[in-house]
Amino acid sequence: MGTKINIEHVENICNAKKLNFTSSRRNVLEILINADNALTAYEILEILKESLPKTKPAIIYRALDFLCENDFVHRIEISNSYMACENCEHAHVAKFLICESCKKTIELESDGFSNDLEKEAKSMGFQIQAEIFEAKGICKECI
Ligand SMILES: [Zn+2]
Ligand SMILES: [Zn+2]
Repeated sequence: MGTKINIEHVENICNAKKLNFTSSRRNVLEILINADNALTAYEILEILKESLPKTKPAIIYRALDFLCENDFVHRIEISNSYMACENCEHAHVAKFLICESCKKTIELESDGFSNDLEKEAKSMGFQIQAEIFEAKGICKECI
């Protein structure tokens, strides 16, 4: 298993890349790290409002944009939600399994099939700009 991202790791990357790790970015990331599951932007907002009642949705969306751009957080298209990266040690195209019963989202580590896809696209002269790998199903706890 990969290593789930943590605040210290993100601080180090932000320092090295001279990125501004603002308090709202940190708050959103902390919520996602502590969550058992992927969360929607609205759920993040509701949690953050418990300690910072004046938080506006735009703050959450801007923080999520930053966190996703830097691969600290991934967006799950199928469930329109976000989760902290579970495999932060190497650059990767994130891939997910999503349980339809308990909504658990699992990040996979394998890079094999995205490498194949990139190779084939390249041979066709196609430039990939975004890849989405998400599979719905039933996890072992729910079978
Ligand atoms: Zn990841
Ligand atoms: Zn499940």
